[in-house]
Amino acid sequence: MSVNVYFADMRAGERENLFDKIGRLLHCCGLKERIAPGDLTAVKMHFGEKGNHAFVRPVFIRRVVEELKGRGARPFLTDSSTLYPGSRKEAVSGLANAVENGFAYAVVGAPLIMCDGLRGHTAVDVPIGGELLRTVSIGAEIVEADALVVVSHFKCHELTGFGGALKNLGMGCASRSGKLQQHSTVAPEVAGERCNGCGICLGACAHGAIAVRGGKSRISPEACVGCGRCISVCPQKAVQVRWDQDAPLVMKKMCEFALGAVQGKQGKTLCLNFITQVSPACDCYGHADAPIVNDIGICASTDPVALDQACADLVNAAPGNRNTALKSGFEPGGDKFRGVWPDIDWEIQLEHGEKIGLGTRNYALERL
Ligand code: SF4
Ligand code: SF4
Repeated sequence: MSVNVYFADMRAGERENLFDKIGRLLHCCGLKERIAPGDLTAVKMHFGEKGNHAFVRPVFIRRVVEELKGRGARPFLTDSSTLYPGSRKEAVSGLANAVENGFAYAVVGAPLIMCDGLRGHTAVDVPIGGELLRTVSIGAEIVEADALVVVSHFKCHELTGFGGALKNLGMGCASRSGKLQQHSTVAPEVAGERCNGCGICLGACAHGAIAVRGGKSRISPEACVGCGRCISVCPQKAVQVRWDQDAPLVMKKMCEFALGAVQGKQGKTLCLNFITQVSPACDCYGHADAPIVNDIGICASTDPVALDQACADLVNAAPGNRNTALKSGFEPGGDKFRGVWPDIDWEIQLEHGEKIGLGTRNYALERL
């Protein structure tokens, strides 16, 4: 059985602008049925790295917030800390960066709350019936929320081919340890040339996995449980993730984390993908390269798998832009994601999402 994916193109006029279309998309997806008055509703965002500008514009988010408030819900915008050291590595930097990127209360009309606490460790282990994982560590405020609206910028991604709702849910709602679990099989490692032996990481490790010898920190892979605390506290950025998971495994784990993020909220989740500024890589970079296709529109669904499948199909159906990072697949129907990242089989995330019961790839596109 197919699931509806609602699609609004970029056309706008005096009778209806894009903000109105966002409202209609949410209502087509059953906002009234899925969100109840009083619901503390997490609007899961990516606030964008400092220097990036491809993330979903705050003024569009304001319309989402207004629709939720119109229903009597109590929305808040949320994101999680990153695993890598950047402008969003903990809540203080992350929230300051979000405001600088335009996500201030005065603009969006809702408070910002990091879903995984001050340093990315405030999380709940959610049991799932995954193929690879039994439990996944999800940011506590995602779990605590009554309802979830997942707003994603649909673009290419260096590790997963594309990044949409599945990535926003799976990686974006995971705690620091959850992100580490998706990216790595083993403990972080210490870059000896950066480490000055200060011992701060040693104090942060609750598992006795770190020792400082000869003025350098050492991590015992046997004792390490992969919580990622040492990564966030090191002032020298010497503790580093071993980005050793291959792309198919990252995608599968990511889907299983996504399953954890929506656990118990399947009837309380709405997903909105903006197929705009389709950049060749993640919004976690401090830049956004030229879009590989022209802006296509906005899609919405209750099913993140169906939604991402529809968005991938829409991007591939479009003509590719020359003089961009796109190297092949320019013709309508050409594979744009492989045209940027030829070695990544992006369909794996859709296949696995469907396999574990997160959703279906079988969709019906309903144009507004
Ligand atoms: S906190 Fe960083 S610099 Fe200090 S000992 Fe640990 S790894 Fe080395
Ligand atoms: S990841 Fe956690 S358990 Fe492993 S060394 Fe770092 S702080 Fe200790």
